[in-house]
Amino acid sequence: MQQLNRRRLLTSAITLAAASMVPRVARGAPSPNSRFVGYPFTLGVASGYPTPDGVTLWTRLAPIPLIAGGGMGQETAIVRYEVAEDEGFGKVVARGSRQAIVESAFSVHADVRGLSPGRWYFYRFLCGDEVSPVGRTRTAEAPGAPTAALRFAIASCQHFEHGYYAAHRHMAAEQPDLVLFLGDYIYEMSWGSDLLRSYVDYEAHDLEQYRVRYAQHRCDEDLQRLHGQVPVAVCWDDHEVDNDWAGELSERLEPNFVARRAAAFQAFYEHMPMPERMRPQAGGLRLYESFAYGDLARFVVLDDRQYRSAQACPDPAKGGGSTVLDPGECAALAAADRAMLGAPQESWLDATLAASKQRWNLLAQQTLVAPGWMQQDGQRRVWTDGWDGYPKARQRLIDILRRRKGLNPVILGGDIHSTVVADLHEDPEDPRTPVVASEFCGTSITSQGSLFEDDAALRALHPHIRYANGKARGYLVFELSHQGLRSRLRTVDERKHDSPVNTAVELSVEAGRPGIA
Ligand code: FE
Ligand code: CA
Repeated sequence: MQQLNRRRLLTSAITLAAASMVPRVARGAPSPNSRFVGYPFTLGVASGYPTPDGVTLWTRLAPIPLIAGGGMGQETAIVRYEVAEDEGFGKVVARGSRQAIVESAFSVHADVRGLSPGRWYFYRFLCGDEVSPVGRTRTAEAPGAPTAALRFAIASCQHFEHGYYAAHRHMAAEQPDLVLFLGDYIYEMSWGSDLLRSYVDYEAHDLEQYRVRYAQHRCDEDLQRLHGQVPVAVCWDDHEVDNDWAGELSERLEPNFVARRAAAFQAFYEHMPMPERMRPQAGGLRLYESFAYGDLARFVVLDDRQYRSAQACPDPAKGGGSTVLDPGECAALAAADRAMLGAPQESWLDATLAASKQRWNLLAQQTLVAPGWMQQDGQRRVWTDGWDGYPKARQRLIDILRRRKGLNPVILGGDIHSTVVADLHEDPEDPRTPVVASEFCGTSITSQGSLFEDDAALRALHPHIRYANGKARGYLVFELSHQGLRSRLRTVDERKHDSPVNTAVELSVEAGRPGIA
């Protein structure tokens, strides 16, 4: 017995030493007997979509990540995973394996079950003699279990060429329980000024090009660190596929867009720690999803892209996509049958919220819901890609929230490369009507530009906008309790790899009182 203990102790000491030698950020040479041409875990590891009894683990084998095929050849590989209570893997509580196949770019998605609620775990992958970096993840609290607090962050819009990912390094260091990535994880196209890095291709059109896009992002050590330290849930916006796409239409109405979209969805799935059931099917991917943390929080992830109607009154030169227009000159804008979420997703949302027993209900979606139009020469100028371009669909969303009392709804978004914090009113254009929800949108991790040029002008036009910042890059971090939600806008200089982080503003919402306190 004693000898056994001593041996076990010795083994775990060796494992501990071995684990600490594995760098957090994946790089280095393959092991001497490796079947691979290089270290296969160059893209690191990730976890996502926590449940009370598990989480989805992700990796992808890619010894040469920035070439088509990732340097893998054709042969199927068996990838094992281990989940442990300790970083040294002395107490492994779950293990299993998945086949990594050429058709899914040797990506691995493993829905782990049988874990305990509300605790941190360590995980790693093994393939032959190769061992991945060690990741860290956290399960959700059991349904209804008293849950005092939750910390989470939102991120969006990380054009690789526009800056470095200091924001991700700082977000990882804050150790939130969850990060929600709200779209524009990649950009299909190179653009911007004073670029600091370059995409391998100018624009991605086919599956291999989209795969290389994601691989290029995931080679970034700060982004890799974030994924290795915190579980995520994700929604996409337009740039995961093509600027301004809507349903089955691209901005320029290209003839083979449905195939391009399917390729983009496939590459998205291959690189995100999404549950196995979310694998794309028949050219579509069901992104909308809901999950909860005890009695405290329910997250509802929405898809504003796949089921939406085309933007109203497009520029004839492009054929489709967004424009900025005077709504008085575009009757189609307010047509009742124009969809943002689509009827099935709207019904699902309504049913999900009706069944919710959590104190707070957080809607994670792509863009600004509250009105944010600007004015020029006394005329309204509406950007038609956002919720301002889908006013009837927005009203349906608000009505769903309004019908259910006690939801404490909070809307989270990105896309606008600015921070906008707003009260969402029953009639969103009439600040005299009751506030239904609070909204936190933005900013961007790196992406340039802003929905508006002048913070003060935007606020002057819209009394429901309580805070606006079109300049600062970074992310929002939230602390949630039964009493309230506290948010902090954390800002970085995206042009500096080693940028420090600062808090630009702190705003809060009290439970039972919708709107910014
Ligand atoms: Fe963006
Ligand atoms: Ca966008």
